[in-house]
Amino acid sequence: MQEFRYRQVRTVESAVRANGTYLAGGTTLVDLMKLNVLQPATVVDVNPLPLAQVEALPGGGLQIGAMVRNSDLANHPTVKQEYPVLSEALLSGASPQLRNMATTGGNLLQKTRCSYYRDTNYACNKREQGSGCSAMDGYNRMHAVLGGSADCVATHPSDMAVAMMALEATVHTEGPNGVRAIALRDFYVLPGTSPSIETVLQPGELITHVTLPAPPHGTRSHYLKLRDRAQYEFALASAAVVVQMHGKHLARVRIALGGVGTRPWRSPEAERALEGREATAGNFQKAAAAAMAGAKPLKYNAFKIELAKMALVRALETVTQMEHAG
Ligand SMILES: Cc1cc2nc3c(=O)[nH]c(=O)nc-3n(C[C@H](O)[C@H](O)[C@H](O)COP(=O)(O)OP(=O)(O)OC[C@H]3O[C@@H](n4cnc5c(N)ncnc54)[C@H](O)[C@@H]3O)c2cc1C
Repeated sequence: MQEFRYRQVRTVESAVRANGTYLAGGTTLVDLMKLNVLQPATVVDVNPLPLAQVEALPGGGLQIGAMVRNSDLANHPTVKQEYPVLSEALLSGASPQLRNMATTGGNLLQKTRCSYYRDTNYACNKREQGSGCSAMDGYNRMHAVLGGSADCVATHPSDMAVAMMALEATVHTEGPNGVRAIALRDFYVLPGTSPSIETVLQPGELITHVTLPAPPHGTRSHYLKLRDRAQYEFALASAAVVVQMHGKHLARVRIALGGVGTRPWRSPEAERALEGREATAGNFQKAAAAAMAGAKPLKYNAFKIELAKMALVRALETVTQMEHAG
């Protein structure tokens, strides 16, 4: 690990002024510093900041402080009752010990688990621009089938972000140029030719909180994660679904996929294939096909396309309380 300066801050203003790399739970950052993947000159510990509250918004909806721990958020009564997709996504991630440390802000900004990114012996454009992508011709079973480029096919690993994408969350920040509210759908950028740029955040910009709109009356939601083992494993494919039904019809549908995209993957194509239609197995399959129509498999991960379709169909069956057809 490289030497670095450590600063602890007590106010948002001093955090922004400190002009360093923020340390929240440290479950991503410290790992990557030990591996020499990240070498920040100054680490700014934001743990003392007063950003650990979950609060109901006056007009409906929820405000989640950036320092709210994943366990606290998953077990918050309002989250469990009104946003079950978020609670389920959080509880499907990592381990209880990690969730006790991991924060809302850190989870959104966690780095890819691409093994070539995490190992400095390999070329990686995300770690070192222009060095190449070892995953492209390497063992790319865990990699993305949606949103990749010739320079990077690393998946975004967060479960929480997938649920928040389907819940149409907004990320609130404070930085050297003031405060901003960024819709989560606009927060992550595709790798293109600059894979090291992962979000629209500017240097020094701090996530202060995330807001969720109030769920429309009668909304149901669910997160389904498929992975190599039942616990303590990242998604191969996952689906977050948020639906409002009118009788047998799907009035409003929000869908996001995890494990398959270079960013948490909202699917307007699947949403359009379902809205206004009846909740039937055939329509779910059409939506799943629409969601994965643009998928581009690599040598070892074509199976993810079918897996993601199955995850979405099963999640829709569960949320609409249909019997599983197959
Ligand atoms: C073994 C293991 C298994 C895991 N399994 C899963 C899993 O199945 N699913 C899943 O979703 N995740 C999983 N994770 C990842 C885990 O969820 C993340 O490491 C965690 O959420 C990161 O949060 P943190 O607070 O520890 O972030 P940190 O490590 O402190 O920070 C992460 C990044 O965010 C930046 N940052 C932190 N807070 C802010 C802020 N407020 N504003 C701006 N920048 C900020 C930091 O500078 C850093 O770049 C796993 C992690 C491990 C180690």
